[in-house]
Amino acid sequence: MKADIVTIFPDFFRGPLDYGITRRAQEMGLAAIQVHDLREFTRDRHRTVDDRPFGGGEGMVLKAEPLFECLESMDLAPRQDRLVGRVKQSVVLLSAQGQRFTQNVAAELALLDRVIFLCGRYEGVDERVADFLADRELSIGDYVLSGGEMAAAVIVEALMRLLPGAVGNEASTQQESFTVDAKVKVPGGADSTCGSNGLLDYPHYTRPAEFRGMQVPEALMSGNHEQIRRWRRQRALEKTLRNRPDLLEGAVLSEEDNRFLAGIRNAGIK
Ligand code: SAH
Repeated sequence: MKADIVTIFPDFFRGPLDYGITRRAQEMGLAAIQVHDLREFTRDRHRTVDDRPFGGGEGMVLKAEPLFECLESMDLAPRQDRLVGRVKQSVVLLSAQGQRFTQNVAAELALLDRVIFLCGRYEGVDERVADFLADRELSIGDYVLSGGEMAAAVIVEALMRLLPGAVGNEASTQQESFTVDAKVKVPGGADSTCGSNGLLDYPHYTRPAEFRGMQVPEALMSGNHEQIRRWRRQRALEKTLRNRPDLLEGAVLSEEDNRFLAGIRNAGIK
């Protein structure tokens, strides 16, 4: 996959994308990340990228022209072809007003050959960029950042670990929080540990078994696979109910899961 990031702060990306799996994905040739300095696509002496808002009001607005010119220099397929999926390319505008970025969106984007990220600044970006240049607007959460750079780094990192071969053990990315794995069989729930099925991940522990009086849960030390499976599944269910009850609606739950949830709901433990 090729990821292009368009920003007025190219130096920002020296660092965040040079570690761990994101770095390895680049070294292995699975991904190439290119950062573009938006100011190189200005034409005035001051390399102006912002201007005052029409209609008045606070702050400045990121201009449309440099963003259009920058994208035109990238040799992308026409927007219409991108929008209907005729090519595996997408232009993403980072925006607090965007569709919420989730693991499902990450999985969708990870299938593409090329993703371009446009980082906004100031009060935002001239709306003609959202209307005529970008294919989608994405938000990384319901809060306002000062720029799209952090958001782009978050999304790139989430994508990189989904590229086949980027994570040593591929099964591990299928068992994580939020992941709904269609391959997992539900009835009976016998396989329900192989994938979080839309739940939060279960708790992890490593050595030592006892640390300052804090013990690793006994079930994990039992060596009994069925007991471990049940323990992990129940902790994932509990944690999801406590921290993110909204996820339970979209989760794939077995009869055993539903019985367990009904049990804790009845006991009033939340
Ligand atoms: N006035 C805008 C916020 C502008 S913040 C509003 O109220 O919606 C400046 C830039 O930061 C935005 O253009 C966007 O690129 C980025 N940004 C801010 N919050 C973001 C979020 N939650 N997700 C993604 N990008 C965000």
